[in-house]
Amino acid sequence: TTMKADDLREIGDLGSGNGGSVKKVTHLPTGTTMAKKIVLIDAKPSVRKQILRELHILHGCHDPHIVSFYGAFVTDPNVCICLEFMDKGSLDKIYKKTGPIPIDVVGKIAFAVLSGLTYLYDVHRIIHRDIKPSNMLVNSSGEIKICDFGVSGELINSIADTFVGTSTYMSPERIQGAQYTVKSDVWSTGISLIELALGRFPFSESSSDDSDLSDLEGTLSPSRPGNLQMNLSRAEKPKKTNKKDKRKSRGVSLQGGGMTMSILELLQHIVNEPAPRLTPEGRFPVESEEFVDSCLLKDPDARPTPKELLNHVWIQDIKKKDVDLVAWAATF
Ligand code: ATP
Ligand code: MG
Repeated sequence: TTMKADDLREIGDLGSGNGGSVKKVTHLPTGTTMAKKIVLIDAKPSVRKQILRELHILHGCHDPHIVSFYGAFVTDPNVCICLEFMDKGSLDKIYKKTGPIPIDVVGKIAFAVLSGLTYLYDVHRIIHRDIKPSNMLVNSSGEIKICDFGVSGELINSIADTFVGTSTYMSPERIQGAQYTVKSDVWSTGISLIELALGRFPFSESSSDDSDLSDLEGTLSPSRPGNLQMNLSRAEKPKKTNKKDKRKSRGVSLQGGGMTMSILELLQHIVNEPAPRLTPEGRFPVESEEFVDSCLLKDPDARPTPKELLNHVWIQDIKKKDVDLVAWAATF
């Protein structure tokens, strides 16, 4: 069956992001509940058709850790992408509701994300490019899957003209303009896993003697002596939907919990300062600390690939562990 607008009935809102919005819909001919992602594309019909052709690859993407694709279609300024509905939503919203996610569950999430990334790269040579908690979805069967990967070059181009690229999950080498590789996804995975385990966006800097940050004084609030905590809330990230706002958004400051930091300052920080870690020491298993440390090696050549990370002891141990994800998913 091919997807068409008339066959879908909207039954709710699932959320929205930089690229567009997501609706809960019923596919009337089959009765299937789906998530319909509406992406506003300010481009010629020819470009929108090219995007549709490129999205076709998704029909061949089948993996237990990848959100299924039902089809896509164009409706005037939009491209609509119909995806498997994940009834427990995304991990950003989940941890904001529950607080820090238990480390064994974070381990299962790490395994799911790495498996999905390995499948995408090994089978389709696809690099995700947008790994973050809002693109990790959960359902009440306890399944964890990733979505929103960069399958269409044209779609990436169209959205790249908007604000999307300036994400705080971006690796140091990407911030400095290097090509995307599968290693960049590993960095984003590391940042995301710390965020889930701590229950907050992690950008902490243990720097009692750091003079580089002195020009940010007054914009960062020290939470402990000798330890600057930066805690940016995604909710406060400036939203933008069209090119006109670009300059304005670049200059807007991110605020949260008493600190303010411009996007540029944050990006500079990611490049110049030590990577965040799973802290405080002793709170989490050593293997999990060591795992995120290797995800967050600044040198992409030293950083392992998703496939290599699947062999890490933390992941090997978590695979053998019986973690009840159905029971966990029933708690929110
Ligand atoms: P950004 O635009 O910065 O990438 P985002 O990932 O939150 O942020 P969208 O991809 O537009 O933005 O998704 C909006 C919200 O819709 C998500 O946060 C998620 O909670 C929800 N969502 C997306 N896809 C699905 C799905 N397949 N099933 C259930 N909920 C979904
Ligand atoms: Mg998303």
